[in-house]
Amino acid sequence: PVTVAVLGRPNVGKSSLFNRLVGRRIALVDDTPGVTRDRKEGFQSYGGRRIRFIDTAGLEEAAPTTLAGRMTASSEAALQEADLALFVVDARAGLTPSDRAFAEWLRRAPVPVLLVANKAEGKGGATAAMEAYELGLGDPVAVSAEHGEGFGGLIGAILERLPEADAEEDEHDPDRPLRLAIIGRPNAGKSTLLNTLLGEERMITGPEPGLTRDAVSVEFRDAEGRVRVVDTAGLRKKARVEEKLEKMSTGASIEALRDCEVAVLVVDALLGMDEQDLRIARLAEREGRAVVVAFNKWDAVEDRSATRRRLDDVLMASLAQSKGVAVVPMSAATGKGVEKLMPAVRKTYAFWNKRVPTGALNRWFEGALSRHPTPLVEGKRIKLRYATQTKARPPTLLVFGTRAEQLPEDYRRYLVNSFRDVFDLPGVPIRLQARGTT
Ligand code: GDP
Repeated sequence: PVTVAVLGRPNVGKSSLFNRLVGRRIALVDDTPGVTRDRKEGFQSYGGRRIRFIDTAGLEEAAPTTLAGRMTASSEAALQEADLALFVVDARAGLTPSDRAFAEWLRRAPVPVLLVANKAEGKGGATAAMEAYELGLGDPVAVSAEHGEGFGGLIGAILERLPEADAEEDEHDPDRPLRLAIIGRPNAGKSTLLNTLLGEERMITGPEPGLTRDAVSVEFRDAEGRVRVVDTAGLRKKARVEEKLEKMSTGASIEALRDCEVAVLVVDALLGMDEQDLRIARLAEREGRAVVVAFNKWDAVEDRSATRRRLDDVLMASLAQSKGVAVVPMSAATGKGVEKLMPAVRKTYAFWNKRVPTGALNRWFEGALSRHPTPLVEGKRIKLRYATQTKARPPTLLVFGTRAEQLPEDYRRYLVNSFRDVFDLPGVPIRLQARGTT
């Protein structure tokens, strides 16, 4: 994807801006040292472009001692990777000498710079933003990250400045790694599994805080190619901030889910699936990710068939996409069963990428409508006319028809489940949009 770096002196609101752009519903606001530094990139799609955003907030603490030195070191590192820089200033505070120094430096940057005047909410905001014009970096875009104002304009301005899209962008690059997240509640065995997958002691697991190796992502190779395990921050954080375990395990899973394609939900088979597991599983579904379930600690399970039944029951009852979902019983600790994980991941990934040919889609749609006629809403029948798959990753359907926008939830679910069955897409969330025509 193309990369956009968010730069500026401390406190201008880089993180809030970044969070808005990446669309985190749960912003990671935390004063524990290292927390902001851990998470510095996120992905979001705008105008059909998948964009990687780098947040440089908090990076300052990592580098040299002078403020200017710290800023340039971290910013320079971010710029190295960027296709576009967002230079953020604080419209309310006005320009400071360090803004001016930063701007001076950015004017020589090898990438285009978009000037963003943040905190420009409400009346007078736009006027305050205009002061930034003096920086000689073109027209500032006025936004309020906190209030979510001005983002339409900002995104438009970003899209205008991005380099031309490579038509076949990364999705078709054969050497692009599959992005995997390992999610689950604390102590389910996520880091043990990662270690086993890596086949070497890349990460140290165990209950001791602070042991886990600092890495935002790790890569390994399976039979089919590269695999990147994204955002292992959840693992690190657990070790570091033990008391925040509960909250963070969900928060970190959300972050990891944003960046991944397939999520492995690690369930502690000794404990069964509880509300926390299900919450994380539903997040995966909400984020549109393909899911594979690992029933871990299988080595220590006594009655395997009863345990399996119990786990399957809970899974089926609570996850809409779970029908037929790949389930891999394993012992992350001994490695037994782990070899079945990546094949299941690859298979589910292929489902997630599925594009159904138009003819087959139309036949399915007609069949589904005739088996189960569309309902009446306020005495009038909803008439569905066409269905089309607008995208994959995950498969997304658009249906058109008279009063289609009123299509009730249960009928939507019927269509989705029928689509899943007919085209055999277990473990994959399917999106359905309905648009009314006149
Ligand atoms: P995480 O919090 O999900 O990363 O969990 P860890 O990987 O740190 O594992 C939590 C605990 O469960 C550790 O004491 C591991 O040794 C133990 N554990 C992990 N996998 C297995 C397994 O397959 N079998 C058994 N018996 N214990 C395991």
